[in-house]
Amino acid sequence: MSAPRFDVAGVSVSPDHYIDGRRVASDDTFACVSPIDQTPLGDIASGSAAHTDAAVTSAARAFSAWAALGAPGRLPYLQRFADAIGRRAEAFAVLESVDAGVLRSRMAHGVVPRAMQNITWFAEHAMTLQDRVIETPQARHLVRHDPAGVVAVITPWNAPLMLATWKIGPALASGNTVVLKAPEWAPLTSSLLADCAHEAGLPPGVFQLLQGPGNVTGAALVSDARLARISFTGSVATAKWIATTAAANLVPCSLELGGKSAFIVLADADLDAAAATAGLMYRNAGQVCLAGTRLLVHADVVRAFTDKLRAQVERLVVGDPRDGATEIGPIIHLRQLERVQGFVDRAVAGGARVVWGGTRHPFGAQYFAPTLLTDLRQHDEIVQQEVFGPVLTLQTFVGDDEVVELANGTDYGLGGVCYGDEAHAIAVAQRVRTGFLWINSFGIRDLAAPFGGIKRSGIGREGGDWSFEFFCDVKDVIVPKQPFKASFSHR
Ligand code: NAD
Repeated sequence: MSAPRFDVAGVSVSPDHYIDGRRVASDDTFACVSPIDQTPLGDIASGSAAHTDAAVTSAARAFSAWAALGAPGRLPYLQRFADAIGRRAEAFAVLESVDAGVLRSRMAHGVVPRAMQNITWFAEHAMTLQDRVIETPQARHLVRHDPAGVVAVITPWNAPLMLATWKIGPALASGNTVVLKAPEWAPLTSSLLADCAHEAGLPPGVFQLLQGPGNVTGAALVSDARLARISFTGSVATAKWIATTAAANLVPCSLELGGKSAFIVLADADLDAAAATAGLMYRNAGQVCLAGTRLLVHADVVRAFTDKLRAQVERLVVGDPRDGATEIGPIIHLRQLERVQGFVDRAVAGGARVVWGGTRHPFGAQYFAPTLLTDLRQHDEIVQQEVFGPVLTLQTFVGDDEVVELANGTDYGLGGVCYGDEAHAIAVAQRVRTGFLWINSFGIRDLAAPFGGIKRSGIGREGGDWSFEFFCDVKDVIVPKQPFKASFSHR
């Protein structure tokens, strides 16, 4: 049985799961609310253990035939999947804007094209993967990557379409079947993705969607011993729970988690460029894992840099994310907004100074003003913990050793930014312990490159060949070069 579809800003959305090639309703539902103005958007199915069981059962059933198609056989399905996303480009843009508060303009020009690429690039790349042959005097080793089986994909609310496709693309391209658990604070574009999979004619069971809260639907999913892999993006606390649960079944996990990345401005930096890029850290209201939220600025240039950044911030347009002029939209949920305010209030109580912002923004109930805090110590909570809101901290340094120590002085290690003379910036970057770091730039990403963090920012890498390493099992078929004589003394 399926529940009636509903309309959100002119887009027809199913509130249901998508299991075994059809829509499946739940008796339990949860409310989906827009962060822009708290408008209720619809009641979404909340998956029970029976739903997760049905989804994994269907995915397990579909696995052999999907794997047996090989990369060439899967390619046309995945191209049709990407085409179906493209045909709904405007619908995805509107929906994620209303549901998650992401800028509609950014969706249309950045995220939707990238979501299509996430599917097609990996499907095409899978075609180029060759078995590796290792020749030894004794034998020929035929080393290949086999699809692992049923993959659980769990995504957060801050970039639901981008992150779902980033994982589903390589998982399906390498021959796995997928169960996606959508984020409960922004579930709607995942539902549209299931429409695309259906329209593309993916065989039943190849792609499933489960809706529901993490501690119910997500927890039931990751407890399933039939999973071959879990690919998770979200918070450290949830990752610890998932890793512990998966360990009981020895299921490998890829964990892409939070960040507290440094944004380093060396004394020899182009300050106009550095300030312009630092202003981007407020993008998506700061709800971006890879943002460089800790500004580490050389003491000689801190005044000039701060003035330039202030000028950037004064020009930022806070508003409705559906409006093309808006640069900063809402915080996803009132609870998240209160969390952001709590971080700022505790920092100020501990001696931090608010350079700008520090409170809610008058545009709406779920808006927070772009904020800069200074007069901080390295051990302060706001320097150590991910805020996930439009809040930057500023600390100064005088030498490379000091900035490297500050940059490395948290438990996180996701990304980073370093502005300065290129050779100097690269030299500093090589000493910062992190998964990636941009020199005189920000946000350049390529699907061929590895992505992921170290320390509390995650375990594993996805992207390019690294995605295939994770989603596949490596098998060595050994063919002897001389006739083999069985003997107990043979090692
Ligand atoms: P979250 O951990 O609360 O939720 C993420 C997903 O996990 C949601 O779908 C949720 O329903 C699910 N979940 C929650 N509890 C679960 C459980 N017990 N079992 C299974 N699933 C469960 O994270 P969030 O608040 O949605 O997202 C914000 C976090 O994500 C931030 O820390 C951010 O830095 C991180 N993030 C990281 C990256 C990256 O690439 N490293 C990208 C985006 C966001």
